[in-house]
Amino acid sequence: MSIETLEYDVIGLGFGPANLAIAVALEEDRRVREHGLRYCFLEKKPAFEWHGGMLLDDSRMQISFLKDLATLRNPASRYTFINYLHQKQRLEAFINISTFTPSRLEYNDYLGWAAAHFNDRVHYGEEVIGVEPVLEGGEISRVKVISRLADGRTRARITRNLVVSIGGEPLIPEVFRSLKGDRRVMHSSTYLERIQACHEPRRLAVIGSGQSAAEIFSDLCDRYPNAEVSMVMRSQALRPADDSPFVNEIFDPAYTDVVYGQAPAAREALIQANAQTNYSVVNLDLIESIYQRLYLQKVSGHAPHSLLPSRHIEAVEASEQGIRLALQGPQGREDHLFDAVVLATGYRRDGYKRLLESLQEHLREGVERDYRLCSQPHLSAGIYLQGCCEASHGLSDTLLSVLAIRSQEVVDALLDNRRHRQPTGVASACA
Ligand SMILES: Cc1cc2nc3c(=O)[nH]c(=O)nc-3n(C[C@H](O)[C@H](O)[C@H](O)COP(=O)(O)OP(=O)(O)OC[C@H]3O[C@@H](n4cnc5c(N)ncnc54)[C@H](O)[C@@H]3O)c2cc1C
Repeated sequence: MSIETLEYDVIGLGFGPANLAIAVALEEDRRVREHGLRYCFLEKKPAFEWHGGMLLDDSRMQISFLKDLATLRNPASRYTFINYLHQKQRLEAFINISTFTPSRLEYNDYLGWAAAHFNDRVHYGEEVIGVEPVLEGGEISRVKVISRLADGRTRARITRNLVVSIGGEPLIPEVFRSLKGDRRVMHSSTYLERIQACHEPRRLAVIGSGQSAAEIFSDLCDRYPNAEVSMVMRSQALRPADDSPFVNEIFDPAYTDVVYGQAPAAREALIQANAQTNYSVVNLDLIESIYQRLYLQKVSGHAPHSLLPSRHIEAVEASEQGIRLALQGPQGREDHLFDAVVLATGYRRDGYKRLLESLQEHLREGVERDYRLCSQPHLSAGIYLQGCCEASHGLSDTLLSVLAIRSQEVVDALLDNRRHRQPTGVASACA
């Protein structure tokens, strides 16, 4: 059988939490079985893992476990975190620890447990490298998805709908670009595997002032108590993430309508006003523990760990001696030499544009409320986008908060793939 005869109704690109939630919603939707929908997912990693490079022993979830893959949509689902605990015979013990925020290690185990139910639907070890239109009489009702296997072979599949949920790509500041490939400079996304390969480093730096930077700083201090560890950041102080209850309502699924319903400038203002819930902020407990750590150093007089706030990195140079950072700060210019540098500098979320390049001329600017990319009238194949719609759907789009509800919204749209459909009263963001 030619590989091109593999034809689907839905293909999901990536199998992180977003498309895992889609898999759960598809399985639980009676209509999907009735219509005999054919669907699969393509994931470039060899097995399911949720941000494996940052599965630090002490790390905790930044969100309630009740915002799991299913509870908000269907509390009776077998894919809830509570059912996972029950299956693992840890429900009572979990209750005894009185928390809404489990460790990330446990949450990764939960997601992996849920993902294992879909092993026959997921093709691991396949990186999607492109999506091409299938032109038939001037119409495009199907697209071809091309993926690359670990051994370099490529595979093609045809589908009527695509759900692109490929997450973010490491954001490398311009000043570090020339050091690509230098093993001593690593992004937080590969932190654990790369730091373990570092041989007895003496001087280490982490760049950034967000949650990952603070977690890595603490981890480096514990891992190498005698090394000099510096946290280099633009901001003047570590600031706490605002997770107070009124503010937290922006992560309620219903808030997506509020954001989407605004004009672009008002939307941007809303997102900016609430950025301190997610960007360049740190959990307050962690800030306090870092402060305490640095205070104890003052008491002992032995201070190998330090924050370098209000610093701008002017230049970076690699030599046999190490990685030299030229910093501009409150006291003028400083030079520091490090054996390794960790970039906790965040992610960019425009990788989907590269994958969809061949479809570009058939698409229009914008994304609809149901996460479908706006398209020219002759493109009826549905292209849905999750995790890259912060500008149109709000801050929860890159997070786990709305997974359970958003997955149902996308599944409803997939089952009802008609052209130019708009839910009543909901404006379209299509240009
Ligand atoms: C360290 C860390 C901790 C976090 N903690 C929280 C938290 O506590 N709460 C919260 O709400 N959010 C948290 N987040 C935000 C995070 O974005 C979400 O938790 C979640 O991972 C989003 O799921 P996703 O499926 O959209 O993206 P991802 O989890 O990034 O999954 C995308 C998947 O697509 C795959 N992929 C990418 N490109 C391709 C391709 N070309 N072909 C095939 N597969 C591809 C990737 O391998 C990956 O498995 C955290 C993020 C990080 C980095």
